[in-house]
Amino acid sequence: MQGPSIRRLSAQTVNRIAAGEVIERPAAAVKELVENALDAGARRIEVILAGGGITRIEVIDDGGGIAAGELPLAIERHATSKLADEALVRIATLGFRGEALPSIGAAAKLTLISRPAAQDGAYRITVAGGAVSEVAPAAGAPGTRAIVEDLFYATPARRKFLRTPRAEAEAAERAVWRLALAAPATAFRLVSDERVLFDVPGQDEGARVAALFGRETAGAMLPLEAEREGVRLAGLAGPASLSRATTGLQSFVVNGRPVLDPLLRMALRLAYRDVIAAGRHPVAALRLELPAEALDVNVHPAKTELRFADANGVRSLVMGAIGRLLERPVTLAGAPPARPAARPAMTLSYPEPPSQMARGFAEAELALLAPPMARAVPPPPASDEPAHPLGAPLGQIADTYVLAVAGDGALVIVDQHAAHERLTEERLRTEFLSGRVMAQPLLVPVVVDLAPIEAMRLLAQGDALARLGLEIEAFGPGAVLVRAVPAALRDPDAAALLRDLAEEFAESDAPVALEARLDAALARLACHRSIRAGRRLTAEEMSALLRAMEATPRAGTCSHGRPTFLRLSKAELETMFGRK
Ligand code: ADP
Ligand code: MG
Repeated sequence: MQGPSIRRLSAQTVNRIAAGEVIERPAAAVKELVENALDAGARRIEVILAGGGITRIEVIDDGGGIAAGELPLAIERHATSKLADEALVRIATLGFRGEALPSIGAAAKLTLISRPAAQDGAYRITVAGGAVSEVAPAAGAPGTRAIVEDLFYATPARRKFLRTPRAEAEAAERAVWRLALAAPATAFRLVSDERVLFDVPGQDEGARVAALFGRETAGAMLPLEAEREGVRLAGLAGPASLSRATTGLQSFVVNGRPVLDPLLRMALRLAYRDVIAAGRHPVAALRLELPAEALDVNVHPAKTELRFADANGVRSLVMGAIGRLLERPVTLAGAPPARPAARPAMTLSYPEPPSQMARGFAEAELALLAPPMARAVPPPPASDEPAHPLGAPLGQIADTYVLAVAGDGALVIVDQHAAHERLTEERLRTEFLSGRVMAQPLLVPVVVDLAPIEAMRLLAQGDALARLGLEIEAFGPGAVLVRAVPAALRDPDAAALLRDLAEEFAESDAPVALEARLDAALARLACHRSIRAGRRLTAEEMSALLRAMEATPRAGTCSHGRPTFLRLSKAELETMFGRK
């Protein structure tokens, strides 16, 4: 197949298209080249990166190709074969500005090798720093191969703003990940520094989401479908229990175009606002189809933001569909209901004398809870020693809060989960700082299925994770083998743990030092080994918790900054009862 011929846009149209810099980092070049391959009708696209794409990007497709005679035009500014409608209303292709190839050619060395199926042999053209070569015969299969070398070598000022190759690779991977979700029928292979990140055949949408979100995550997501005034929404979204620490597993595709649109992101956030904790994010793969007239994609040179003619309509369509999905009774095995059924009644429980079994458990728990010193001290009765400002336990409320009375008559209420989380974190941090995090080898190594991009991210941090007591190895694309876990965590859910950590190591917009990431990772680990709210504690466990809190720095807040305990002094109680 050969596409329509390439022609120059009229001056008027050129002015209508805001002049913009398209290529600000390797990910942007990758995105433009893959979009060109999709616009050319490719059934199969391969992306090969070296040095995060700064050294080299190669995109190979089996699409319609560029005729030898049109190669010089392809790299000329504002030359496109795509814009049939110069009023910029009906835009069916991913590209239309005719800016990408010339911009890449101005910033790097760009080689195009292309062959329409009907043409005898392939031809090549090279542009480096704006200087264009002759068109010459070359070897090549039908389709196009675009090679970008030494991005920004001509503009050192630009190059200075690039992040590490690792961070640039991650951004480029994300760009391909999004495009692969938008075009499931096309096979995608992504290789970065010789590592195959994903290799997926042409498939239906559900299979593509499973391949790129990870099978386990995708399996827990629920299908949704809705329509309103010609706008159709379809896709998969997670139940509230599937929340993540970042927005990394959210994909929006509008009329076949992957977008990072603020309106859609906000609509999703609002839809989950009441069911997901602050700071957590839902998982979703959503696709919107709407009439071209109802959409302006020419808002941003990278074409990742949109303007909807009926923004309110789109917002309520998304929020309504998710709202209905969250109300559905969850039938999936093991998944907790999306909303708590009703507020549990307050019950005051008194510690029972531990049974034999419970004693064994309590002892193990105490060993974990208390620093060795504190463990040797028997729990004091309602103590008035200043060393025990949290006092002696009275009982538990709703299996969640420990009630205690201090020597000075103050009433102390401890959030057992928040408190234990802080204790575990401090203990891990102490071990970490002394370079002695205890790793507990697993008898049977666990295989964890992740999104390929997450697996890759964790493996890239293998050494750092080993310092946290977590030993992992590659186990095929998207899978990681866990050999050991931090001993302080005892028996964590390895899959949940790795997923959370993958998010901690995601490249954020600002460069974050490894030490800071490890520090945040410690907090994450702690969260995976903490007494749950809703667990009944024995008297010994409650005492041990209070004593350990007193012995631990920063025990007054959990790692999320929430208080771990409240204290009502005798004076405050007297004021409340009007005695003063
Ligand atoms: P745009 O995509 O906005 O048209 P580009 O600068 O990205 O602008 O590409 C210019 C032209 O080069 C395209 O319109 C298309 O005709 C041709 N082209 C670029 N890449 C490919 C490809 N992989 N296969 C076929 N044609 C291509
Ligand atoms: Mg293009």
